[in-house]
Amino acid sequence: MPTLGTAQATIDILQKYGFHFSKKLGQNFLIDPHVIGKIIAAAGVGEDDFVLEIGPGIGTLTQYLCEAAREVTAVELDDDLLPILADTLSAYDNVTVIHGDILKQDIGAIAAEKNGGKPIKIVANLPYYITTPIIMSLFESHVPMESLTLMVQKEVAARMAAGPGSKDYGSLSLAVQYYSEPYLAANVPQNCFIPRPNVDSAVVRLTCRQEPPVAVKDEALMFAIIRASFEQRRKTLVNSLTNSARLSFDKETVRAAIAAAGLPETIRGEALTLPQFAVLADCLHQ
Ligand code: SAM
Repeated sequence: MPTLGTAQATIDILQKYGFHFSKKLGQNFLIDPHVIGKIIAAAGVGEDDFVLEIGPGIGTLTQYLCEAAREVTAVELDDDLLPILADTLSAYDNVTVIHGDILKQDIGAIAAEKNGGKPIKIVANLPYYITTPIIMSLFESHVPMESLTLMVQKEVAARMAAGPGSKDYGSLSLAVQYYSEPYLAANVPQNCFIPRPNVDSAVVRLTCRQEPPVAVKDEALMFAIIRASFEQRRKTLVNSLTNSARLSFDKETVRAAIAAAGLPETIRGEALTLPQFAVLADCLHQ
């Protein structure tokens, strides 16, 4: 049975170990069992599953994952949390804690060892200061993943799910939607954490695509074009793509590619769909 998940249990553990929160490491610990239940349900964790958890903290979500899954590996950066995790997870023999930075782990090797190389489930109440780098490094490393179920800042969840025409639409939307199908599972208020963050949160499940939704000759070029398009989102696409340090196309080449892609010359990047970015990237591919 999990022993954590309430404010009192969290405070007791923190006091027992004299633990001080690190703002720098994005430490906001979950204290609401209903929210934890929603995360486990959204991830669809079952007894055959291997789950990788990012940032277990004092082990609250980890305990519930250990109850639901076959095996759990949790990667925690903060040295001070290791003795606490040894204590709070001592009742479970299906968990491994790795001390380190999630951005420096060989997750492909973890999936190979723990899940026979089959796609893994990732679950995390993410440290918000590196949400986008974590998500992008997981996607770009092409680690076998079934889904990522993540607590993120509410605004970031909105950006992930946004489409053209929305103010939230940007390069994160396109990257997330290229690699996965986002689903907003729950909104989570500030009082579900200790300490209270000064932003609202949301649980999103990103179900990883086994095939990209569009074919493109040069994925890296398409993402460079996407990033350049949103660097100056009020400018026309022609100006954004020719002014960006990421790309070295001249104006005539960009104009010709936009025309070849069947787009009006005055269009802004924020109006393009993912398939349109893919066609444009192919037109600029040499
Ligand atoms: N999972 C716990 C919970 O829900 O109560 C804690 C979540 S807290 C928002 C984020 C956790 O990620 C913290 O424990 C923090 O120390 C850890 N963390 C921060 N940066 C990390 C990194 N680069 N790699 C691994 N863990 C990290």
